[in-house]
Amino acid sequence: MGAEKTKAFGTIAADAPLNEMNIQRREVTSKDIEIEILYCGVCHSDLHTARNDWGGTIYPVVPGHEIVGRVTKIGNEVTKLKVGDLAGVGCLVDSCRECNSCEHDLEQYCLNGFTGTYNGADKHLGIQTYGGYSEKVVVDEHFVLKVPANLDLSAVAPLLCAGITTWSPLRHWNVGKDSKVAVVGLGGLGHMAIKLAKGLGAEVTLFSRTPGKTKDAKELGADEVVISTDAEQMKSVQGKFDLIIDTVPYVHDINPYVSTLNISGTLVLVGYLGELDPMLNTVPMIMGRKTVAGSVIGGIAETQEMLDFCGKHNIVSEVEIINIQDINIAYERMLKSDVRYRFVIDMASLKK
Ligand SMILES: [Zn+2]
Ligand SMILES: [Zn+2]
Repeated sequence: MGAEKTKAFGTIAADAPLNEMNIQRREVTSKDIEIEILYCGVCHSDLHTARNDWGGTIYPVVPGHEIVGRVTKIGNEVTKLKVGDLAGVGCLVDSCRECNSCEHDLEQYCLNGFTGTYNGADKHLGIQTYGGYSEKVVVDEHFVLKVPANLDLSAVAPLLCAGITTWSPLRHWNVGKDSKVAVVGLGGLGHMAIKLAKGLGAEVTLFSRTPGKTKDAKELGADEVVISTDAEQMKSVQGKFDLIIDTVPYVHDINPYVSTLNISGTLVLVGYLGELDPMLNTVPMIMGRKTVAGSVIGGIAETQEMLDFCGKHNIVSEVEIINIQDINIAYERMLKSDVRYRFVIDMASLKK
């Protein structure tokens, strides 16, 4: 099955640029939805996987897990969407569906490991999964999202990773009108954290190392910007925040932020995987029942909840549209944080 060739853009080695290639997609099974991909967001994970920065990349790799498009074919048991509907696919395309996590709509924490949208183990074809830098994708309906029709489709794409990654902790820690939320880092994740926290009615502060981002942060909805290198400003927010979403993707000192948590407050790491340096000082945690936590993306039901919320509140990502042929340049710019705030590929460019 699935001898059909699908046009895609990927790489054959860690040190090779991304280029056009053909991949295999499975034929639509009874529960599957085939989606013509219209836009695909560019996440930092794409770059790290393409270059094998985390190890474990299987080549060839086709990145992309912020996918939006239109349904072109459905299996005979599909009920969620019909041909012609808008559809989205995020970071996962399968899970075991029977463990405790899966039974509680927490597929991202599947005890048997979820299947990533790319570089995962495809249960159907027995090869690796290929992501959204491609003309189409075939996904089980359970893992396909409905996309609100009122939003700019290209700017919806990053909601499927950057959006849900920040939405899930906001919901888990019950952020609402009386909450004081702080965001560390203003990139793809950080700018969504500001918009979504604001949408939920919270008072939102951005921690930034330099004053250069103040104007942008306020335009995105931040009520306040605190310069984290300014001792006086940091002192003024001691004990203030109920939740801090730390989106910084590299090793950094989180101790100064823990001190700004309210009693029983939580700092949740969503951007950095690895050991902390310097180490965590437990004194302010113990003396204030504070928590340092982590969180990864979100489950399918929660992702749908986030998309519906964004539709209702007109929330989308700030994007810069590129052609697929410019993806290697885009990666270089991302490494320099030279993007406001997410690159999104117009997949029509793949047809050129
Ligand atoms: Zn991502
Ligand atoms: Zn599971």
